[in-house]
Amino acid sequence: MNEKYLSVPPDYHTHTALCKHAEGRPAEYAAAACRKGLREFAVTDHGPTPHLYDSEHRMDMDQFDLYRNWFEEARAECECKVLFGVEADYFEGCQPFMSKWLSACPFDLVLGSVHYLGSSDMDDPDDLSLWESSDVNAVWRRYFELVGDLADTRLYDVVTHLDLPKRGGDRPDEKDLPDLVLPALDRIARAGMAIEINTSGLRHPVGEMYPSPQILEWACERGIDITFGSDAHTPENVASGFDGAVKLAREAGYTHSLRIRGRRRRRIPLPVTS
Ligand code: ZN
Ligand code: ZN
Ligand code: FE
Ligand code: FE
Repeated sequence: MNEKYLSVPPDYHTHTALCKHAEGRPAEYAAAACRKGLREFAVTDHGPTPHLYDSEHRMDMDQFDLYRNWFEEARAECECKVLFGVEADYFEGCQPFMSKWLSACPFDLVLGSVHYLGSSDMDDPDDLSLWESSDVNAVWRRYFELVGDLADTRLYDVVTHLDLPKRGGDRPDEKDLPDLVLPALDRIARAGMAIEINTSGLRHPVGEMYPSPQILEWACERGIDITFGSDAHTPENVASGFDGAVKLAREAGYTHSLRIRGRRRRRIPLPVTS
């Protein structure tokens, strides 16, 4: 077996140009993944939603066939396994659509994300409306309630960037953290859902991965499984920061991550790192 494979876990979170704020096609991500020694990765672009929800940051419904076709092109071009995924938003009222649509499409894996509180986009550094209108704890509380609601739907496989509200550096006092975060972790554990170690935080103002070491430790104590995601919006960011991510996982107590295919999970040992 390729020695490099042993040091890189699958990257289960990448995007494409179809979401209007990323670059590249799956074939380009696949080439980058191969170069970096991955044996498997997933393209999980922002999935379409009805009612024009956040349409400026995702593919349109009528581009979904093109998205699917792009996987054929990627698979023809490289040897590693290219999984068919999607990053699907959870928002209030999405359930009737999501339950139908997600089960109708033959995804390998479905990431579940909360990006918005009301009309405020937590993933947009220019959108400060949230922080101007409410205090940090209130934002975190509302956000983690929605994450808990996401878990309760049982519609998604993995919760992405779990502590996203810290993106710009806004965090609650450490003493308030358990009360804000643990109820959501308990709901994720009850749903049997996984969370991801998302390295994009290293490229954001906060400068650390999602979730924080403390939250990851709490997740491990609850038996919540993990995956790894770069959240790459350009091909060169595939698997970026993964050495540190594996280290973070080990320090939190993890010995395994998940392999997900056809929406079925299996635990695989964490790669050996030097
Ligand atoms: Zn994005
Ligand atoms: Zn490949
Ligand atoms: Fe996201
Ligand atoms: Fe993403």
